[in-house]
Amino acid sequence: MGYEKVKDNIYFYTDPNFYDVVAGAIELPTKLVMIDTGINLIEIKEFREWVEKTTGKKFEILFITHFHGDHSFGNQVFSDCRIISPEIHLEYMKMLKEHFTPENIKKEQSRLKDPRALEGMEITLPTETFEWQFEIQDGDVKVIIKHTGGHTSDSSYVYCPNYKVLFAGDNLFVNSYPYGGHSSCNPETWLEVYREFLTLDVETIVPGHGPVTDKSYIEKEITFMEDFKETLKELASKGVAEEEILEECFQKFLPPQETDNEDDVPFRTSTVKRWYDHWVKGEE
Ligand SMILES: [Zn+2]
Repeated sequence: MGYEKVKDNIYFYTDPNFYDVVAGAIELPTKLVMIDTGINLIEIKEFREWVEKTTGKKFEILFITHFHGDHSFGNQVFSDCRIISPEIHLEYMKMLKEHFTPENIKKEQSRLKDPRALEGMEITLPTETFEWQFEIQDGDVKVIIKHTGGHTSDSSYVYCPNYKVLFAGDNLFVNSYPYGGHSSCNPETWLEVYREFLTLDVETIVPGHGPVTDKSYIEKEITFMEDFKETLKELASKGVAEEEILEECFQKFLPPQETDNEDDVPFRTSTVKRWYDHWVKGEE
């Protein structure tokens, strides 16, 4: 585990055992806000204790950027807090709750490098929902959570203009490819979200995976995704068969890396397929 104070009022947690997934905290004048909860209950509890001790304040609010387990499995560590999410996120979390029987949790656990990570895990649902935007104000500090879609249809970001910080969730992967294989991934919306990020008054951008970055990284990601889209469309317009397009884009944009484990290839493949389905076949 790694955790650090990134700058005044901003705390960062990352899990090198699971694709450098990120969670973080914002210190407001009277309370703490948590964003995402990782996939390792023991570590996220330690992080909570460390931030509370460092700041002398208590966590009162948890925002979840999207339903994927690597961002929401640790929710129960914050079950005494208000847990706030978009309405559609609650629907996905209810499905997770149904899916993750003790047997399925065991299976999930066997995939993880730290076998203690999900000991005693229970999917914990949001306690309050909103549709598109939610704000909290504490003294003169404001935090905005905005539901945008993109990576998944429930994806949201958290923005604090006072501290010039953005928590992008999985609408931003730093130093790894942008996984977009979920059936509700909308890569065109994702591009719009990147452009929206550029309009925010931020100096510090915390991604869903990887190290903290800034706007220059967003520009690179826009170029990558635009290039991907153009290549898909161009090949399709020449009448190239779907199978060949998928293979060519896979090799050009998402070739397997030496550091991959065997689980990664299907995730990459599903990303290419989902983006093809959206951009070429016009599926929503
Ligand atoms: Zn993730």
